[in-house]
Amino acid sequence: MVFYSPGRTSLYPEDPPNKGIRYHFLGGGDEVGNVGCVFEDKFGNKSLLDYGLTPTDPPRYPNESPRVQNAIITHSHIDHIGMVPWLCGNYNSIIHATPLTAQISRLVWNDCYKVSRIEGYPLTWDKRDIDISLDNWVTHKYDKKWEMESWECSLKKAGHIPGAAMLSVKTDSHKLLFTGDFDSRDSPLTSGAKPEKCDSLFIEGTYGGKYHIDKQENIKSFVENIVKVTDRGGTVLIPAFANGRTQDIVMTLHKYLPELDVHVDGMGKAIAKIQMENPEELRDVEELKEAWKWCRRVSSKSDKKKALDSDCIVSTSGMMDGGPSIWYLNRLRHDTNNSIILTGYQAPGSGGDMLLNEGRVNIWGNKTRIPLDVEQLSFSTHAGHKEIVEFVEKCDPENVVIYHSDSKSARPMLHSELTSLGFNVNSPKNGNSYIIN
Ligand SMILES: [Zn+2]
Ligand SMILES: [Zn+2]
Repeated sequence: MVFYSPGRTSLYPEDPPNKGIRYHFLGGGDEVGNVGCVFEDKFGNKSLLDYGLTPTDPPRYPNESPRVQNAIITHSHIDHIGMVPWLCGNYNSIIHATPLTAQISRLVWNDCYKVSRIEGYPLTWDKRDIDISLDNWVTHKYDKKWEMESWECSLKKAGHIPGAAMLSVKTDSHKLLFTGDFDSRDSPLTSGAKPEKCDSLFIEGTYGGKYHIDKQENIKSFVENIVKVTDRGGTVLIPAFANGRTQDIVMTLHKYLPELDVHVDGMGKAIAKIQMENPEELRDVEELKEAWKWCRRVSSKSDKKKALDSDCIVSTSGMMDGGPSIWYLNRLRHDTNNSIILTGYQAPGSGGDMLLNEGRVNIWGNKTRIPLDVEQLSFSTHAGHKEIVEFVEKCDPENVVIYHSDSKSARPMLHSELTSLGFNVNSPKNGNSYIIN
């Protein structure tokens, strides 16, 4: 645990760079998640892109941020937004994002606070800091320019989840583009990110070296799997993240299996409501509205019991670490007609990871054997290796900085391919400063 005390532990240099643009990852440089990137020009204009934490047990925190007047938050996932209350509580920084990201932030921070209490891990901020942060949002619609630190900035659609943005920054000498988490492919909720000419591109590399299977193939396996289980009278438990994944899954079920009885539980319900109030940040708000009307939202204990007799239950947490999905699992595990479909990556040490490797899940403190069929599919909304390389080529930058990427398995593959294509590539380490000339 890092004990944050502002100004004490920052490794960030005090003086501006002599020339060019300095960038420095506080976190998320050579790892997935936990992002914070400070960038500064020779005039001392300085800002922070994202400030998140990784909610593992114990959580991973980025290094302490230097004082910044402004921070830009690409989207409302905890690994990009989780340390913002610390930033606002200590520096009273102005925080910039799309309206949807700002509106969802309250739910995400409150949930993070609640989980930290339940799990008993220390947070570096408290409830008061959430209130300060909520007052400090300045929101920007996509493609609307604003001036910050005498730079011209704008947010661009990033795909990934509704409200997710890429940041474009024009300084007196450079044009930078930070992708945040992005996907150039459409998802049920969002349309894909569009490349843009820049001279320095900071790109996430979560899926470096990994190729997505065709979306239709993935949906076919998903549908076949569900039909198999419902035909034998079972219920499929579909653990899904609240912010993006839950809604994507419900929309997919509505489109391909409208005859099913589907129940939805967890924070994804509240998030869907906010998404529907921001139609301009969605690919097609009507599709979400119809799917949402169609599914049954669980809101009471008796609803929960009814859901146990349904065809599918979509619920948090996505990696089976607590949340209603554990409550359902504890009941569904007794009938082997039931099954589980994991909808994406399961972090090492998570409940889903334990389920895949040992056939067990931690249910209220007990490692419990789960004798059900388990399928893992990928509904990822991160660009895969192929999409990342195509995106870089279309942005046509001189410099590429790969971040938000595993430094052993994923990033070296991207680094070598992009280098061989003639780009000047850097794979930064957390805590180091680099200069773009
Ligand atoms: Zn992320
Ligand atoms: Zn994300």
